[in-house]
Amino acid sequence: MSLKVMQLENELMKSNCFIITDWKTHSCVVIDPGSEKSMREIEHIESNRLHLDYIILTHEHTDHTWGVNALKEKFPYTKLVCSELCNKYAKKASRAYFLFYYDDPNYKYELMPADIIIKEGDDLHWNDDCFRFIHTPGHSRGSMCIYLDEMLFTGDTIMPYKPYFNGRDSNEEDWEQSVIMLKETFSQDTIIYPGHGMSFLFRDWKGIT
Ligand SMILES: [Zn+2]
Repeated sequence: MSLKVMQLENELMKSNCFIITDWKTHSCVVIDPGSEKSMREIEHIESNRLHLDYIILTHEHTDHTWGVNALKEKFPYTKLVCSELCNKYAKKASRAYFLFYYDDPNYKYELMPADIIIKEGDDLHWNDDCFRFIHTPGHSRGSMCIYLDEMLFTGDTIMPYKPYFNGRDSNEEDWEQSVIMLKETFSQDTIIYPGHGMSFLFRDWKGIT
């Protein structure tokens, strides 16, 4: 198989960025670039002479979206893909988040608008494969899971531990419904690539009983 997944740990909140590279076509897709300048992603793309086809976001939280603008500035041809609610709410980046990083309380990060807005059940063809998107509200309103070739990129919906519910844009009951739906939809052999922590088989997940 020509697809390879590289996992990078983002700054601050130790969220995951994944770069899926198709070595047959020398193209790649970045999921959740959450480090401000996306330096490692840019280095991977440039040193291997890859074409960055898409940047895809699992959800609107800043630790998953922060590096998008840097990637879009470097590779303006690339397309940003996310759900409608992610596109809407990502604009309200958490100011508290940046206070970890900058002394300047006026620092602002405004995510560029998406090029492709995903609706429930949409597919996105990519080389010989096809991304499938599943809206999974709960951890956040705009959360979605991204399926490709027996891999499921779950953002903060499925992680090695139960997600954090912040009381503003989270709803635990919605999350439980989303997880039940994912369990009914995907095989136990699906590889989960979570928003934080290491990947694991769906059958080994202990997050909900
Ligand atoms: Zn999150």
